[in-house]
Amino acid sequence: MFDNDGFDVAGITYAGLFALQHRGQESAGIAINREREITLYKNTGLVQEVFTPDILSKLKGRMAVGHVRYSTTGESSVLNAQPLVSRYVKGQLAMAVNGNLSNYQELKHRLAWDGAIFQTTNDTEIIMHLLARARMKTGRVETALSMVMKELQGSYSLVMMSPQKLIVCRDPKGMRPLCMGKLDNSYVFASETCALDTVRAEYIRDVEPGEIIIVDKDGMRTIRDNCPEPGTSSICIFEYLYFARSDSYIEGMGVHEARKNTGKILAETYPAEADLVAGVPDSGIDAAIGYAEGSGIPYGKALVINRYVGRTFIQPSQEQRSTAVRLKINVLRDAVKGKRIVLVDDSIVRGTTSARLVSMLKEAGAKEVHMRISSPPFLWPCYFGTDVPSKEHLIACHHSVDEICKMLGADSLGFMPVERLSEIVPDIKCRYCDGCFTGNYPYTHE
Ligand code: SF4
Repeated sequence: MFDNDGFDVAGITYAGLFALQHRGQESAGIAINREREITLYKNTGLVQEVFTPDILSKLKGRMAVGHVRYSTTGESSVLNAQPLVSRYVKGQLAMAVNGNLSNYQELKHRLAWDGAIFQTTNDTEIIMHLLARARMKTGRVETALSMVMKELQGSYSLVMMSPQKLIVCRDPKGMRPLCMGKLDNSYVFASETCALDTVRAEYIRDVEPGEIIIVDKDGMRTIRDNCPEPGTSSICIFEYLYFARSDSYIEGMGVHEARKNTGKILAETYPAEADLVAGVPDSGIDAAIGYAEGSGIPYGKALVINRYVGRTFIQPSQEQRSTAVRLKINVLRDAVKGKRIVLVDDSIVRGTTSARLVSMLKEAGAKEVHMRISSPPFLWPCYFGTDVPSKEHLIACHHSVDEICKMLGADSLGFMPVERLSEIVPDIKCRYCDGCFTGNYPYTHE
């Protein structure tokens, strides 16, 4: 946030992070700039665990960047928590990034052989090193960022603060979302529009792929040196299927609507004789509503979520994941007893969560469970910031749909057809990445 009105900047950043908690639950941090001096507070844990009222009250300033983390590069630790703050010859820098550099190893190797010392194992530090070096060759930090962007491969939606400027950019393929809003005369940027709604900022527009936006005392300006041809960028389609909150809009397309569209397509492609359509909370719910609308089968609740447990998919280890399923979801016995259920979930990675859900429903008396999955089968890993693991851990790489269905104990199973993905996002203004389903990635990877 860049404040021109005297807002409680730390409080607004906190509220924005709270709205984006679903994007990362390992750590949270806020860096705040008061008269060119940046103060940082970050720790592991949920936003509300990390920031007590006392800590927030000490964070004063006119500019801030905040971050919630979910690790794909670098282990989960407070050192790897973001924002990162560094001091170099031109003053302080704070930076937070959503995404993953696919040429991280190559860049790190180059920097290490150039004498760089690293304190973290995350790729934000790589960008900071490159930026500090580029800044020596140019008079402006935003020009340095533009130079660095030419070296980066992979996804990054980046927010940073120099002593006097708030600067944001998106990678030229625009793989991760980033939007801009205004709160009176102040500027707010966030990964998703739901955060703008939370802080009552007016949505202005998405940051364009490749665009750099600078906000300082002279107002807002933009650099478009790295912008591709309009419409050629590739937003991650999994943002619509799973990652984003359903009340967000990305690239002009509502996430809720996109998820409902998957349900309608599934109802058409994989009809079922059933009494009830239910969704796996939270990201299966919208698709289940779409399936119910498309099929005419009543929609209802079959599973209840404990909201105080994090999203299972984004816990870093297998052990944490399986415990989290049991802690997180319970069955509404009366709703499912004696019924044939269509259960809609957003994806299947290893199959452990789905198998557990089917058995819980059957133990509670469901007569049949027909699983419908609003993503196509994962066949390839993700190199761009989603924890879709290597092929050896992807159930669909080793088993046919029929085999997976048997392994889950379901009565039938249908995945979103990959060739119909474009139909779920009819309003988006760009292309999309579907690499984890097709193996076609927008950037090269190591
Ligand atoms: S590979 Fe999959 S999860 Fe990764 S960016 Fe592409 S669509 Fe998103």
